[in-house]
Amino acid sequence: MARYIFVAGGVMSGIGKGVATASIGKILQSKGFRVSCVKIDPYINVDAGTMNPLEHGEIFVTDDGTEADQDLGNYERFLGRPFSKVNYMTTGKVYDSVIQRERNLGYKGRCVEVVPDIPQEVISRIQRAARTDKADFVLIEIGGTVGEYQNMLFLEAARMLKTKNPDQVFFVLLSYLPIPPNVGEMKTKPTQTAVRTLNATGIQADMIIARAEQSVDAPRKRKISVFCNVSPEYVISAPDVKFIYEIPVNFEKERVGEKILKNFGMKAKKQDMRAWKALVRKVRSLKKTVKIGIVGKYFEIGDFTLTDAYLSVIEAIKHASWALARKPEITWLSSEKYIKNPNAAQELKNFDGIIVPGGFGTRGVEGKTKASEVCRKNSIPYLGLCFGMQLAVIEFARNVCGLKRASSAEFYPSHTIDPVIDLMEEQKALLEEKKYGATMRLGEYRCKLKKGTLARLAYGKEEIRERHRHRYELNNKYREILEKKGMVMSGVNPERNLVEIIELANHPFFVGTQFHPEFKSRPLAPHPLFLSFIEAATRGRKAR
Ligand code: GLN
Repeated sequence: MARYIFVAGGVMSGIGKGVATASIGKILQSKGFRVSCVKIDPYINVDAGTMNPLEHGEIFVTDDGTEADQDLGNYERFLGRPFSKVNYMTTGKVYDSVIQRERNLGYKGRCVEVVPDIPQEVISRIQRAARTDKADFVLIEIGGTVGEYQNMLFLEAARMLKTKNPDQVFFVLLSYLPIPPNVGEMKTKPTQTAVRTLNATGIQADMIIARAEQSVDAPRKRKISVFCNVSPEYVISAPDVKFIYEIPVNFEKERVGEKILKNFGMKAKKQDMRAWKALVRKVRSLKKTVKIGIVGKYFEIGDFTLTDAYLSVIEAIKHASWALARKPEITWLSSEKYIKNPNAAQELKNFDGIIVPGGFGTRGVEGKTKASEVCRKNSIPYLGLCFGMQLAVIEFARNVCGLKRASSAEFYPSHTIDPVIDLMEEQKALLEEKKYGATMRLGEYRCKLKKGTLARLAYGKEEIRERHRHRYELNNKYREILEKKGMVMSGVNPERNLVEIIELANHPFFVGTQFHPEFKSRPLAPHPLFLSFIEAATRGRKAR
């Protein structure tokens, strides 16, 4: 029998609902339970695939090729297990299946209504996740903030599930307690209001996680308890932390797991957070640094730098650096700068390693290509992820193979002179018909590694599986000339003979992957390619 824990947010967004959900999951898992997670996003998009990462953050890809919200990445990293399409839904997806069922006479001719049919579909989906993951606990994160119209039907689903199974459902409200500088005191009123708004939907929170800059003291816990109808020990203090992996440890100090289990009349089967706690301790004590530059375009919004678009890349850098006892110092480098002033790219020499991550379209492209050139020529460790691999191939074709007009068919669709990166055959018809949603080459594919290469050495095995999200590929017509000039095709998909990894032999570390290794990196199991990249980076600028 699965238990369902809903996590909703109050007061405002961006206070860490995804990480809080993942942390509760981590704790329950460490106590011996099987945990599943479901992210609910209230928008109409059927999935995250068509969204601009500047607006919504990274598009996380699962093994089965679901293009999901970045929180699925948090769940995977905290729980150390993969998730799939059953763990993610949006308003669009829910309506889509209800409408399809209605068209197929699945409702046997009756009138299909928003209530109860939409919440009912939401419940079926949550239960499907429980079955698929054989879960003891399903954590359901409801996107948005309580009081919005957008997530009403999901809260209604939660209420309906509770009414039907009162002993199987638990509600967590993640709230925020501001400390206005000119008041100098932590204020509970917005939380009280959020609780009341939640009450209006027929839901009473069982636990309130009180996010704030500082710890919540006993008097305020009592106050929240009285005004919000939650016993004081179910008000959890969640102060800001230096890094997110501390959160399960902090929650454990507040006995979050024990309290949730007690509510269900259950007991822990074991306690196993040792490795996680050891990692947190280690990270806190790290002194030596490694300087990594990320050359991209999705981080400047007005006056703010938002790096959510590359969340998994950042995490993968951290995991590998920590494993090698280094504190990563990540710098955001706007590729557009190198277009205006190619000389500016010489600044890359000040870094221990450079990453050019995934991307789409023409903006900033020549700047990224320039970055790849500077890294190649100056023996700077380089890791190109998907787009970063494609641009490295273009640069090599132009400057080493003499194909001056080499480019990707993505940039000049009908007149690329030397399309060293070309549209995949099956993508052609899809693009003509404007079928953009969920049509890229998505999810896990096999890749065979060539003996004696950096990639083979890094993975330590002959065959790997990695996650993809792209429409373009290295054009096999140019393979011979690229290889003749020294580019090594170190990973190839055996089914379709597609190049998945390139590298340069006479360079300390120059690797490009058509896939996204970052999606599989875990705090306690860093990704092998990131490990060898950081390892090359730590050998340092001195060695160059
Ligand atoms: N735009 C490129 C493609 O579609 C790369 C995609 C990516 O970096 N994820 O192939």
